[in-house]
Amino acid sequence: MQLRVETASPWDWRWQLRNSISSVEQLAERLSLTPGEQQGAERAAAQGFPIGITPYYFGLVDPSDPSCPIRRQVVPDEAEAREVPGDLRDPLGEEAHSPAPELVQRYPDRALLLVTDQCAVYCRFCTRSRMVGAGEGPRPDQRLEPALEYLRSHPEVRDVILSGGDLLSMATSRVRRVVESVRAISSVETIRLATRVPVVLPMRIDDELLAALRPFHPLWVMTHFNHPKELTSEARAALNRLADAGFPVMNQSVLLRGVNDRAETLEALFRGLIRERARPYYLLQADPVRGTGHLRTPLDVGLGIMDQLQGRLTGIAMPKFIVDTPGGMGKVPVLPEWVVSRRAATDTAPGSTTLRTWRGVEVDYIDPPV
Ligand code: SF4
Repeated sequence: MQLRVETASPWDWRWQLRNSISSVEQLAERLSLTPGEQQGAERAAAQGFPIGITPYYFGLVDPSDPSCPIRRQVVPDEAEAREVPGDLRDPLGEEAHSPAPELVQRYPDRALLLVTDQCAVYCRFCTRSRMVGAGEGPRPDQRLEPALEYLRSHPEVRDVILSGGDLLSMATSRVRRVVESVRAISSVETIRLATRVPVVLPMRIDDELLAALRPFHPLWVMTHFNHPKELTSEARAALNRLADAGFPVMNQSVLLRGVNDRAETLEALFRGLIRERARPYYLLQADPVRGTGHLRTPLDVGLGIMDQLQGRLTGIAMPKFIVDTPGGMGKVPVLPEWVVSRRAATDTAPGSTTLRTWRGVEVDYIDPPV
């Protein structure tokens, strides 16, 4: 039996995409823009990275507060026109690490397949702002074929991340086709779906999508909640639907100035995520994307937050704090100074290490005899 699909409701994801806020006028109708936001929005519309906000996600914006953490993530600001030292157009060197069109490989065992340039929202801190939202949309089969051929002939690549853009902004039939093509490569063991849809368009995680993807497990979902305000009842339901359908869900938060740069905020977010069976996986130092200096924090801020959370937050809610090094040289986990000093073994004494615990006390760990 063919079911008729109702798309005239705000609870339908296609309605949300069709009714996205994408122009300065639409923004200005709904928000009293600050002069900086007005200028930023005009610049974005004219030349930059586009505006795109689903009505659902826009509903989380506090219209009376220009410093609202949701607003800072999606409403452009004049500061996007500013370059600061260290800014890069392609901070992770993805173009230099592309063995085939639409494919990025920065590590031997995994690769990133860019299946579309379209997203459900355009986040102002996006690492790939140089290419997302460019208007080309989902990549057709023939455009992805060289990347698939590369994966077929490189069996050392066992983990493929489907990204873009956001693949779940595409039609379900297209998502299924891409996943099916990658799953058909016998050397690929895991497929990861990198998506912000559970955050910004949770109604997209519907029965049709889950039924279409279930045959291709193991499929992991890498999502991207940045603030506890994003854990609405709709988003929590989407996370539970994913978990119930057998998708392990991992969350990567980006540390953003004025959004989530306080330990209390991240503690609330990470606790909220584990309640919905989503694992806080990475806290990412924001990449030095051109025009995002106003949203980034010094490295010390992240280290201080990790220091405060250690011991106070259950281990399953503790992400790794990661710097993805500029130029595409790879991710580095960074830790507060837990190791105070180390002493090598001598003929008369074993090696030992002085550690600082979360309680602030220093404790010696003595190595076993060698
Ligand atoms: S959803 Fe992801 S790819 Fe799209 S704009 Fe946001 S951060 Fe960038």
